[in-house]
Amino acid sequence: MRGHAPHEHGQGDGSGDRDGHAAHGHAHHPHGHGGAGCGGGHEAGDVIERAERLCQTRGLQFTRLRRDVLAAVAAEHRPLGAYDIAERMSAPGRRVAAVSVYRALDFLTEQGFVHRISSRNAFVSCGHEHGAGAGLVFLICRTCGGIDEMTAPAVESALDQTLAGTGFSPTSRILEVEGECGACRGRADEPNEPDRA
Ligand SMILES: [Zn+2]
Ligand SMILES: [Zn+2]
Repeated sequence: MRGHAPHEHGQGDGSGDRDGHAAHGHAHHPHGHGGAGCGGGHEAGDVIERAERLCQTRGLQFTRLRRDVLAAVAAEHRPLGAYDIAERMSAPGRRVAAVSVYRALDFLTEQGFVHRISSRNAFVSCGHEHGAGAGLVFLICRTCGGIDEMTAPAVESALDQTLAGTGFSPTSRILEVEGECGACRGRADEPNEPDRA
């Protein structure tokens, strides 16, 4: 398990500074992708490649539908609801039912490729390699809607300590924190000064 610094999303003030991007600590493939800002910090291609590999290892079917749903979620740095996903995947003459999306999301969530954000009833993709019961903190920005995922071993151990002796066994240890992200705060505090080097 490794912690990582929250990457900045929605860096609209970064004037296309794609190099700053290596600082996230995620593995990036050299193929360029033209997303605006840094997105979720994990590139859709990487997320899908990893899911494909893991499904193979686990002997599971990575169907076209599952892949398409994951791709839709990974392309967005905001949590996406099932209906939004269905809409994105639908084309004239090819309507994708929300119920199929939900089924695919169940699978993807179970396998840890996406996380459900309860407070939004929406989903984000996960490019991290943490275990199923890992302590996670989601930072949800109310201003830009962006979301960052952090692994939080401290939360995990504090929670386990709290639960010790209750006989309760948590299957998830996920904390959703709402607030304002660094990029949005920077814009609010210093509207005329790009404050990041
Ligand atoms: Zn995750
Ligand atoms: Zn924000």
